[in-house]
Amino acid sequence: MTHVGDVVRFQRPKASDKAAGRGLCASGFHKWEAVKEKPFDVKQGKLVTLLRCTRCGATRTEAR
Ligand SMILES: [Zn+2]
Repeated sequence: MTHVGDVVRFQRPKASDKAAGRGLCASGFHKWEAVKEKPFDVKQGKLVTLLRCTRCGATRTEAR
């Protein structure tokens, strides 16, 4: 019989590489990758490059 109190514990994902990535990201070393979705920033009225970190998902724009 299964006890009601039995809880299936989720296995913690082994993400050693992600942990290392977070360390790098935390240190400011993001892995920026250009995103093609938004080549033009209307607000700034000029061409910008949207960059996204492939590890933590942070984004930033870079004026050309
Ligand atoms: Zn990052």
